[in-house]
Amino acid sequence: FKGFAMKKIGETGWVEKEVPKCGPMDAIIKPTCVSPCTSDIHTVWEGAIGERTDMILGHEAVGEVVEVGSLVTKFSPGDKVIVPAITPDWDDEAAQRGFPSQTTEPLGGWKFSNFKDGVFGERFHVNMADGNLAHLPEGLSDEGACMLVDMWSTGMMGSENADIPLGGTVLVIGIGAVGLSAIAGAKLLGASKIFAAGTRPISVKVAKEYGATDIINYKEGTIDEQVRDLTNGEGVDSVIIAGGNLENTWKEAISSAKAGGTVSNVNYLSGADNVFIPRVEWGCGMSNINIKNGLCPGGAVRMERLAALALVGRQDPELLVTHKFRGLEKIEDALYLMKEKPKDLIKPVVLL
Ligand code: NDP
Ligand code: ZN
Repeated sequence: FKGFAMKKIGETGWVEKEVPKCGPMDAIIKPTCVSPCTSDIHTVWEGAIGERTDMILGHEAVGEVVEVGSLVTKFSPGDKVIVPAITPDWDDEAAQRGFPSQTTEPLGGWKFSNFKDGVFGERFHVNMADGNLAHLPEGLSDEGACMLVDMWSTGMMGSENADIPLGGTVLVIGIGAVGLSAIAGAKLLGASKIFAAGTRPISVKVAKEYGATDIINYKEGTIDEQVRDLTNGEGVDSVIIAGGNLENTWKEAISSAKAGGTVSNVNYLSGADNVFIPRVEWGCGMSNINIKNGLCPGGAVRMERLAALALVGRQDPELLVTHKFRGLEKIEDALYLMKEKPKDLIKPVVLL
């Protein structure tokens, strides 16, 4: 079958592959909607996870089951399914310690377009189908569901990790699809003021719809100075990093947090080897400002819960979709659009 792949660092192209073997607990899926992720861009053009050869890209998909293994009980061919970007090995010890996204090795729950072929092809393989797939509920569109599998799951984890007190204040740095999902999560978790740093007009619009109360333009001065100005010098309870760079962002994040606050990172760090924490602003290491981080949560229950949130209308995942393509061959255009990040883009989807 045909798939769109990373041929090597800096190079993409179409490849032909054999349909993968379906193990007894596994499933083979035909995607019906896929979306490229900023992480695919880091992987191909920044070589952020190292060299990969002819690996099919993509880890955001909704699809239809075409085959299941003999031990799969919850799914049959023809079922419409939500496929999480992260598909843990649920019997691994890291899952039992409470970190399913880190099973088998650090970041090991992230399989598609990391160390196995991803979802940008006519077929793809899912391990542990009963634990990793969720039925697509009626009332949720393919493109809406496709925004849950990585964007909502990651962004909302950013807000869950941020220890937001009820009525507390939050700063979200970066308002691409991940930062916007973090804003949605912060509102659901009871934040009062939500400061959102970013400039793309379409993102600013959705940030306000998801619950941002103040927009900060990081190009017009440092974020921490602007946050201090807006909070009578106090800073915020929680900071979520969902964009920015290694030069400024961590300094701005720590400097924006109150003593006792939390900085929660979901950004995929690339471009330099070290992260610098500003010593004085961090209270010489004694400020009780905690730093948390994580990889997108995967698995069936996470998908079912996010779908349930969307279905009761708490927030609308489809607001993240700004561009729709049709047909497998358009995956290439969608990925390059994600690379260029035009002003009117949040997320493209490709319907198949
Ligand atoms: P986008 O590129 O769409 O958004 C990045 C945001 O950061 C934009 O709002 C941009 O602003 C803003 N930004 C850029 N430079 C700065 C700066 N100097 N200071 C502050 N803000 C800045 O990315 P996504 O939302 O798609 O993804 C965000 C990150 O999350 C990526 O690194 C991605 O790889 C990662 N990710 C992590 C996952 C995880 O499991 N932890 C899973 C999925 C993604 P502007 O509006 O001006 O463009
Ligand atoms: Zn991703």
